[in-house]
Amino acid sequence: MLTGANFKIEEADRAVPKASFSGRLVRSLFSLGVHADLAVSSIVRRTLICVFFFYTFGAQAVTIHVVRPVEAEELSMPIGFTFVVGTVSPPDSVVTCNGTLCDVDEDGAFLGFVPIRLNQGWLERKGQLCDAEFTFVARHEDEMAREVIDVFTPRSPSAAKLAQAVFEPEKTARVLRDQWVGLEGDNLGDVALIPKDARVQVASGSASNYTCRLPQGEEITISASELETDEGAGVAELTPKVFHIPDQTEISPFWKASAECPRAWGFWAFSEGEHLDVKVKCSLRQAEGPVDESRPLNDFKICLDPGHHPDPGAIGPRGFEERHSTLLIAHETAELLRAEGAEVEFTREEDPLPLKERHARIHHMNPDIMVSIHNNSVGDGDDPRLRRGTQTFYLYPWSKPLAEEVHHAILEELGTQDRGCIQRNLYMTRYPGCPSILIEPEYLIIPDQEKKFMNPEYRHRLATAIVKGIRNFVLRTTSNAS
Ligand SMILES: [Zn+2]
Repeated sequence: MLTGANFKIEEADRAVPKASFSGRLVRSLFSLGVHADLAVSSIVRRTLICVFFFYTFGAQAVTIHVVRPVEAEELSMPIGFTFVVGTVSPPDSVVTCNGTLCDVDEDGAFLGFVPIRLNQGWLERKGQLCDAEFTFVARHEDEMAREVIDVFTPRSPSAAKLAQAVFEPEKTARVLRDQWVGLEGDNLGDVALIPKDARVQVASGSASNYTCRLPQGEEITISASELETDEGAGVAELTPKVFHIPDQTEISPFWKASAECPRAWGFWAFSEGEHLDVKVKCSLRQAEGPVDESRPLNDFKICLDPGHHPDPGAIGPRGFEERHSTLLIAHETAELLRAEGAEVEFTREEDPLPLKERHARIHHMNPDIMVSIHNNSVGDGDDPRLRRGTQTFYLYPWSKPLAEEVHHAILEELGTQDRGCIQRNLYMTRYPGCPSILIEPEYLIIPDQEKKFMNPEYRHRLATAIVKGIRNFVLRTTSNAS
């Protein structure tokens, strides 16, 4: 499995990992040196298992390479089922995990939806006490391989203790930098700017996020790393600003349609001291003059956001990472867009850019359109074998027609199932400065769909569909609006 900041783009299909048991033994011993945080008992146990199988079955033994879960993974639930993926060799082996049969593809990539099995003996991993395990068994004729992965769930005592330490209800916290946050429920589509140094009321919290209350009672979620719980002596009180965005003609309370600015295509606001500056985008593109209908993308500035990195995103059974896949799709799309006269910029390429820094990067580019490219996955408890097809997300009214056009172009080109063009409050759909959407063409964690994402011809067809969707959006909106 590839990890770390440096990675190379992989163009061609990748061979299924074929580590032998002797290879696993070496890797186990190697990991003893580099992962000092692993419990010694586990290393000994694993090494013994490797040695046992090495001597019992020899170098021809069955091998299994688990991609998900990873050691010490934090599951979001303590009971029920979750998905597991990886590869097995020989490919016609039978794979079970926690006693449940997994589906194995012809090249050995496997996918299972298996029960979470609680472990009564606590094991320490990365300072946490693991309380669940996944036992993989692969069988081929008389040979077998076994792999145990320890994980922890929200019920593990150390996870509970950690949450308690962070959770300090009804305290105030200072916001460390400007935050765009989306509101949920009845206010879906509205967005609040919580300016740097504003103080929010902490209602509840966990290790990574706080739920905070705004003065009008709206609840928002902010990453714990963006907040400092202090008494706030000497810091100016800045009130969060909520932008209500009910339709195309109003971004209250700051803007209403007028002859000079008949339609909103986005807005941007930022705080400076106690001032709040709001700029509304009045025309779809920055270039002067009418759109050339024979070459509609000419002079458009389009931002492509290859999802993920530094985090790998979803990882397919063969180890193909979402961050690699999205960058390859973005490059293919950019080439086609540039051929039609558009100017294209990426939020990131090989260098990582954390999610929370992407709005600022896009704002600096000031694009006319933003498309965030992802490959789909599922959460714990959701059976991936039932998941097929394309989803496209948007949040604001001005992003909806773009989402619809790109969504339908993908369905048409790839022949995928329609899983909906959905209004959802996601960090990337929340970018307010221009029509902004997030696409999930198919599921990377499903063996046959991972294979598609690894195929350059498929990525080319997907890129063609994205460009067609953007083109149709521009033609549709410029023919019936100024
Ligand atoms: Zn993603």
